[in-house]
Amino acid sequence: MKVLVPVKRVVDYNVKVRVKADNSGVDLANVKMALNPFCEIAMEEAVRLKEKGIASEVVVVSVGPSAAQEQLRTALALGADRAVLVECDAELGSLAVAKLLKAVVDQEQPQLVILGKQAIDSDNNQTGQMLAALTGFAQGTFASKVEISEGKATVTREVDGGLQTVALQLPAIVTTDLRLNEPRYASLPNIMKAKKKPLDVLTPDALGVSTASTVKTLKVEAPAARSAGIKVKSVAELVKKLQNEAKVI
Ligand code: AMP
Repeated sequence: MKVLVPVKRVVDYNVKVRVKADNSGVDLANVKMALNPFCEIAMEEAVRLKEKGIASEVVVVSVGPSAAQEQLRTALALGADRAVLVECDAELGSLAVAKLLKAVVDQEQPQLVILGKQAIDSDNNQTGQMLAALTGFAQGTFASKVEISEGKATVTREVDGGLQTVALQLPAIVTTDLRLNEPRYASLPNIMKAKKKPLDVLTPDALGVSTASTVKTLKVEAPAARSAGIKVKSVAELVKKLQNEAKVI
């Protein structure tokens, strides 16, 4: 069984992002970039399926600039067999990304596609769902457990009220939640080996996909700064303030 893992290059989660002075977006100059954390979880799950002998090949794919090859090499070091970059410098909306991934799915014919539940830069949480709609594959989103047997994926989903278990006919789409697994670190020998693994570069044109967007970003703003708090001298004073100033009791 072939597993396809779409991964996104995002600003590292440790970086405090700055908004550009003209409010057109986030300043990415000299900012540390990394593999989206939920995509690391997706990679880990795919590699575990390979280690169990369930997956025969793990292919990692990213849509993004040439620099996204760094994140693809990281994924290769984590255990993917080969990588595909759909090179595109423009920032794309989820639907354009999902259409490009659909074209890669048509080429690769995977039985399982594992994505992150969301990319931590835009927090869209929709690419997996859109890909499921475009491919017609069954979907199990927010997965905290995935079991594959007899042409079926049994996916435990983290939903508001607790856990929901669904059975999906393969081929299927799974998106990962935080508790699915704990991703491994790439070892130095695997980082060296990853340099020699195949990495193909495609373009949206070659895939015959238009990346024209229907969504335009109007303005990006930093959250309002919080004003400093105050210390009260007694519980009575706190109650008074809650009653008279905050008017919450
Ligand atoms: P999003 O819907 O943008 O929050 O992203 C959810 C998941 O879709 C990510 O964790 C990735 O697995 C996948 N994804 C989003 N954008 C891309 C991209 N540019 N290239 C490859 N995969 C992507």
